[in-house]
Amino acid sequence: MHTLTLKPTKEKSLLRRHPWIYDSAIARVEGRPASGATVVVRSHEGRFLARAAYSPESMIRSRVWSFDESEPIDHAFFKRRLQRAFAYRQAAVRDTGAVRLVFGESDGLPGLVVDHYRSADTPPLEQLVCQFMAAGVEAWKSAIVQALVGVTGCPNVYERSDVSIRAREGLPSVTGVLAGDEPPDSLVVNESGVLYHVDVRLGHKTGFYVDQRDSRLLIQRHAANRAVLNCFCYTGGFSLAALKGGAASVVSIDSSGEALATAQRNVALNGFDATRAEWRDADAFAALRSLAESGAQFDLIVLDPPKFAGSKAHVERAARAYKDINLTGMKLLRPGGYLATYSCSGAIDPDLFQKIVAGAATDAGVDMRVLQRLGAGVDHPMLLAFPEGEYLKGLWLQKI
Ligand code: SAH
Repeated sequence: MHTLTLKPTKEKSLLRRHPWIYDSAIARVEGRPASGATVVVRSHEGRFLARAAYSPESMIRSRVWSFDESEPIDHAFFKRRLQRAFAYRQAAVRDTGAVRLVFGESDGLPGLVVDHYRSADTPPLEQLVCQFMAAGVEAWKSAIVQALVGVTGCPNVYERSDVSIRAREGLPSVTGVLAGDEPPDSLVVNESGVLYHVDVRLGHKTGFYVDQRDSRLLIQRHAANRAVLNCFCYTGGFSLAALKGGAASVVSIDSSGEALATAQRNVALNGFDATRAEWRDADAFAALRSLAESGAQFDLIVLDPPKFAGSKAHVERAARAYKDINLTGMKLLRPGGYLATYSCSGAIDPDLFQKIVAGAATDAGVDMRVLQRLGAGVDHPMLLAFPEGEYLKGLWLQKI
């Protein structure tokens, strides 16, 4: 068995059950563990701390599997972790065909994301979509796929490990079938009574932004008779929710023509009145400014941009971008109107995001009431020991 010995005092975060070990915390490595190999982590004094996966190329040199000295890392371990993750979702998530079944560190499986799609057909088509984003889960891929099929009863598993962070682990980008059949071009899921086309092979991430389910329902409940603006709309998640909720009109902006084409197919799929929906293929920053210049006004605005800060190094630039869209968005709101605004940048914490949005309100010269703090659904749990799990944060605001 390979052993990692930490530098003096570097065991503190592990004693708090935080699962990451940075290369800078390691005093020495015994043996030459391969990428993804299991290592025993010990304090400088030799005390057992954890079993972890070794990642020779990553700054996060090792990610903890278990803090329990008596727990071996084997097929049964992965089965137990997946059973626990599955049981939690079965109890906690309802009314949707799109569920995050495994959320990495928060489910004790660092670097693994699994989304479960159940189509609205009878009988439904079941599809799991996985992202393996760290050396440990990569090394255990076949055990994980076997356990996933066994635990969920879903025979179809597709891999979407085409994510840039794999490069930090020294892993190539890969996609393809891991079990069962090739996924269909479009799988139709029902979320809160709205149908969405999901393309698990070519869509963003695993095909759908599963994390915004609760917020889409919030918009559905507040959209009646309102003029809605949805920026960074992707395949129309919030736009469709607004139409379902009886919006008077919905203007949606995205810079991906393909996403907008799917969004329009989603309108037809639901039988909504297409004349209430306008789609603009544009840069949202420029489009927001030109809407403001034209004197447009809306009753409900959604700002759900992509991750502006990929790391701590980009926080300042990202803060300016968040402030820019929020400032213009607030100007475009009628008094009494609602703003749902988000950041999915892990490097920007909820406090900082709120400060940025507050700065935007100051510069726009408006007063905004905080009605609710928003975040990802319960299928993206956050562990107290791993606050990094709270990557998506939002504010539900009302202009006074
Ligand atoms: N709200 C969506 C998810 C948004 S993902 C949902 O619930 O499904 C972010 C989207 O922003 C992507 O579709 C991407 O194409 C788009 N995007 C990225 N940069 C953009 C820009 N500068 N202007 C407009 N859209 C942009």
